[in-house]
Amino acid sequence: MPKIDLQLPTIQNWSCHNCGGCCRQHLIAITTEEKKRIDKQGWTAKDGIPADVNLVEKNPDSKTRPWRLGHQPDGACVFLQADGLCRIHAKFGEDAKPLACRLYPYAFHPMGSKITVGLRYSCPSVVANKGAPVSDQLKDLKKYAKGVVPDNYKQTLPPNVKPKETSLDWPDILRIVNALDASFEADDIPFTLQLLRAVSWVDLLAQSHFDKIKGARLTDLLELIVAAAEMEVDELSDEPPRVSRLGRVMFRLMISVYGRKETQQELDSPMKSRLLSFRATMKFAWGAGTTPELYELLPRVRFADIEAFDRGLPDGFEELFRRYLRMKIQGMHFCGAAYYGYPLTTGFYSLAMMVPVTLWLARWIAVGQEHDCVTQDDLELALTIADHHHGYSPVLGLGPFRKRIEYLHAFGDIPRLILKYTR
Ligand code: SF4
Repeated sequence: MPKIDLQLPTIQNWSCHNCGGCCRQHLIAITTEEKKRIDKQGWTAKDGIPADVNLVEKNPDSKTRPWRLGHQPDGACVFLQADGLCRIHAKFGEDAKPLACRLYPYAFHPMGSKITVGLRYSCPSVVANKGAPVSDQLKDLKKYAKGVVPDNYKQTLPPNVKPKETSLDWPDILRIVNALDASFEADDIPFTLQLLRAVSWVDLLAQSHFDKIKGARLTDLLELIVAAAEMEVDELSDEPPRVSRLGRVMFRLMISVYGRKETQQELDSPMKSRLLSFRATMKFAWGAGTTPELYELLPRVRFADIEAFDRGLPDGFEELFRRYLRMKIQGMHFCGAAYYGYPLTTGFYSLAMMVPVTLWLARWIAVGQEHDCVTQDDLELALTIADHHHGYSPVLGLGPFRKRIEYLHAFGDIPRLILKYTR
């Protein structure tokens, strides 16, 4: 088997703390071979499997993984024990579990001839940076990578830099990716300023033509536009940002996607799910009255109370978002093959929008919990909810969602939304 060249993140810790969150949050799609293995394990009620639930159900959403693990009445995986451990793991060991369960929350994405390792922030231990440094986990990661990286992997096509622009080669794409990562390296510059500058220089990048700008010339261009963005966005304005009316609608429509989690009942009835989703979308487009039910952790509160909840942010917000953005950038989890084929520029705008989206969800949690201000716990919970979809919900890859990002960018609302919700 050829050697897999893995690139590990250097800024992230993680170990599983058995909270069972992933076993409640995710639908686990499995192959027919994995189903057969589970069938052979001979599970009975004596093992604590609740009566009248299926171990495995049909998965209509995938041809390669045509089955999924069954669920208990409360929506948790059928194999989740009350102590937060997995029954399969406890009885037969880790290797007996389906691949998706062994991999979570790791994500493996192509980066030229290498495979870069990212982490999903839908896991609370990832968000809280709890556990061993990921850079120390190479042995396990190599084992997991063998399960997902094809034996004959050489490299995939690099992402386009911007819509309709012929791709640069991987070395040039990585020059841009490294410059993006470096934009968030310093921890003595306000995070909001770093993000606004990054959006600003990505805007300048989007105006460039790359037929002759490659190699050292691209490095020179990047130095120039990063310096230009620093001059253009030299400080944070005290003026309240005026987000356009349509921009506010587009933003709320994005939140209606990021804040949504289907209940077991909805999963069992796709028609009902579509109807609830349509009603929620209408409510968010309108943006008045009370919020619709999107997810049990987001209680019904007034839209106006969320908008008015302007009471500052916890001290840890800068560290959290800096690490989050850098992990997504280093993990190539914002464009190309790992992100619905988005070009690098549009993908970065989409990633930047995760900041105001998460902060809006954090306000929603804080208002619902009657907190005096957004707490670090509110913020971390909001990020687990939002990142659950980032790069995984098919709807984010569809034309209408991409159009919302492009609209927000074209009308200059992305920096305004960032400024509005990070104040
Ligand atoms: S959500 Fe994270 S910490 Fe919790 S059980 Fe899953 S992997 Fe472990």
